[in-house]
Amino acid sequence: MKKLLSFLPKVDEFLISDKLEIYKDSIPYNILIRSIREGISFYREEILNKRLVDTDIIDKDDLRKKIINKIIKLIESKNQLNLKRVINGTGTIIHTNLGRSKLMESSVKNIVSIASNYNNLEYDINTGKRGSRYAHVEKLICEITKAESALVVNNNAAAVLLVLDTLTKGYEVIVSRGELVEIGGSFRIPAIMKYSGSKLLEVGTTNRTHEKDYLEAITPETKALLKVHTSNYKIMGFTKEVKNEELSNIARDNQLISIEDLGSGVLVDFSKYGYKKEPTVQESLKAGIDIVTFSGDKLLGGPQAGIIVGKKEYIEKMKKNNLLRTLRVSKLTIAALEVTLKEYLDEEKAIKNIPTLRMILEGKDEVKKRAHLLYEKLNSLKFLEVELIETDAMIGGGSMPTELMDSFGVAISSTDFSITQLEKNLRNNPLSIVGRIQGGKLIFDCKTLNKDDIEKIYEILNKGIDRI
Ligand SMILES: *Cc1c(COP(=O)(O)O)cnc(C)c1O
Repeated sequence: MKKLLSFLPKVDEFLISDKLEIYKDSIPYNILIRSIREGISFYREEILNKRLVDTDIIDKDDLRKKIINKIIKLIESKNQLNLKRVINGTGTIIHTNLGRSKLMESSVKNIVSIASNYNNLEYDINTGKRGSRYAHVEKLICEITKAESALVVNNNAAAVLLVLDTLTKGYEVIVSRGELVEIGGSFRIPAIMKYSGSKLLEVGTTNRTHEKDYLEAITPETKALLKVHTSNYKIMGFTKEVKNEELSNIARDNQLISIEDLGSGVLVDFSKYGYKKEPTVQESLKAGIDIVTFSGDKLLGGPQAGIIVGKKEYIEKMKKNNLLRTLRVSKLTIAALEVTLKEYLDEEKAIKNIPTLRMILEGKDEVKKRAHLLYEKLNSLKFLEVELIETDAMIGGGSMPTELMDSFGVAISSTDFSITQLEKNLRNNPLSIVGRIQGGKLIFDCKTLNKDDIEKIYEILNKGIDRI
């Protein structure tokens, strides 16, 4: 033990090592020093606790190499960013915990260009005077949705708040009991209603709400009828909801505003492609709804944003509301949103180029090809037992909760090591890989994996089970 302890190099010796030299310029000095100290003390503990004995080590240089490898691992883990890329093997396309929609490449390029240069965010190039950040995408949204007017804010929750704060503060808003939704724990319709200073009037029952329920609830204090898309759950069986046309008629007949929180905000009719009908933004407006709100990063496939479309007179009021300043959208969002929206001018392009739409509509044969590729690669690793399996992928993001998509993936099992430990280690790898455990096997669904992801999964597993 004494001999091994005397082999332990000093901090300074590592600072001049070739292998660590390269880090001197690329990482903060104190991360380097801390990693070296921790690397040395890790091995000191190993020796003191007899986990490392004389026979394990050839000479001083051998121990030194071991410590350097440990130090490099420590540097890499300390130098990681907290928000980082993850490989999504869950098969859930709009995964709220994993950042929802991936942006198309041209959107990302535009973000880089706008972010790394000055730009006309609030500058009117024609007049040389102050311009509006909201103007950059308004016309485009109106063209795609056929809305009179449009406004973009930070997210859809902000959109709903701005709409209610501007239009219904101090008044009653009628909502069906079947639509008092909670999204992801923090967005609840009754709570948002309260923040906005509007009074919630619940009508109907959980499963059935009729026209007369709305009609009977209207008082002189009522300002609006609000419809909320039940995007993350489904009420099935003996149900009845009031359709948009009927709702907007009731509103118009009673001088009320009709508002719809569509949530996912589809701009493409999925039923054309063999999916269950999901109401589109265009249809809501066509049905006469005055104000519609939806998310930018769910089925639209763009950046996080909340989009408000509808009657010009109402949207003008929102533009004048001071609250807008606290909910305002960033230049990076506008940069990504404009490029994404442009794709929708040609639907064929949109479904081909926007990753979220492309993944949803991609045929299962293509997914199977990728699953086969992953299977072949992982099967070549002797320590894994792998199977090609059929899976059910999901859209996610509170969109179409009952729609499952036929998909394929690979299931990993083992009699030699713990699958839960493997899952944990892959999750904690510098490039984190997230799969799901089902029936004691680790499953990677290929609906959400591209060829590059598959290559990376292979590379990481190829390092060997004890090195991940
Ligand atoms: C997702 C969703 C929201 C919240 O949208 P964010 O963009 O996440 O703020 C609100 N309402 C409904 C119906 C939703 O589905």
